[in-house]
Amino acid sequence: MDLETAAATRFSADYGEASRRFRHAAEIAGGRLRAYRNPNPGPRGEALACDCAWFGPEDAGKVLVIMSGTHGVEGFCGSGVQLDWLEEGNAAMLPPGHAALLIHAINPYGFAWIRRVTEENVDLNRNFVDFAATLPTNPAYDELADALVPPALSGPEFDKAEATIAAFRAKHGEAAFHAARAAGQYTHPSGIFYGGAGPTWARRTEEVIIADYRLAARRHVAMIDLHTGLGPFGYGELIVMPALDSAHGRRLQDWYECVTQMGDPNSVASTRAGLGPQRWEELLGERTTIATLEYGTRSRWTMFSVLRADHWLHAHTNVDWGAAETRRIKADLRDGYFPDSAAWREMVLFRARQVLRQAGHGLAST
Ligand SMILES: [Zn+2]
Repeated sequence: MDLETAAATRFSADYGEASRRFRHAAEIAGGRLRAYRNPNPGPRGEALACDCAWFGPEDAGKVLVIMSGTHGVEGFCGSGVQLDWLEEGNAAMLPPGHAALLIHAINPYGFAWIRRVTEENVDLNRNFVDFAATLPTNPAYDELADALVPPALSGPEFDKAEATIAAFRAKHGEAAFHAARAAGQYTHPSGIFYGGAGPTWARRTEEVIIADYRLAARRHVAMIDLHTGLGPFGYGELIVMPALDSAHGRRLQDWYECVTQMGDPNSVASTRAGLGPQRWEELLGERTTIATLEYGTRSRWTMFSVLRADHWLHAHTNVDWGAAETRRIKADLRDGYFPDSAAWREMVLFRARQVLRQAGHGLAST
């Protein structure tokens, strides 16, 4: 299907539609499905699950893994990419000895509730730390915590929060402010970019999936984790963790040509701890080639504003799903991570098809 038509048809309106379409398309493509049920209901009382679909021989040496929904709401995009891969017939074109594992909505709660976080209010990509060890500190976040998630979104309390942030930016600069708010923090459970007090359901499920599918025992696993919300509108940046001059880093450049290392000034992503890809590397070592495909959406300030409003909603109200204020905050957040734009969606699918093809070729050559 051409990109324009695919962009108009392969993205879903909500978590329920996305998961139904994923399971249906996976079955038609001959996938073997397995559901990991989340213990919490969605906003309309619906059941939630992370659905996995396996294509190809059970004992395949090489596996392509495509994961969506690490950051909940970003699953609107990731789910569409997965449906595009399925409906383009890619499962039937896997070479001998190759399999594909599609992990749909690893954080189904965040997807259903239109949140970036898990049911524990945790950023899943700050949760993969060793909770027995000393946790990372973020003193600048502590200083700003009450301003980042203020008690109100307008009026004197909001004005005070804005003044605190303005003073911080004037003293420390723009980059320091964004690093402070987004690097991750383990001290404010209702705050933004909270890493948690222990492994979340989504983290435990991700680790169980790695074990259930014996991914650490395969010859090689190509992993793409789909994200949105950082970078220029519609641009899909491949962000990687390993040093570019390491064996893994060289493999990533061979496969994809253009990757950026997290923390490099050329990357949209600054350094942070507790990311899922780090855990995959710990468990799979040189048997994996792993990259985050991060699509840019709205401006940094828009993203901060919509995220902040959503955290205010969940920290300071009982989240009445039908209320006009909730609808507005959720619509803004959804548009922040999944812009209502035909052009954006077409760019997403163009880049996804390219990257997933490169991953398949890389896997074949390994
Ligand atoms: Zn993300």
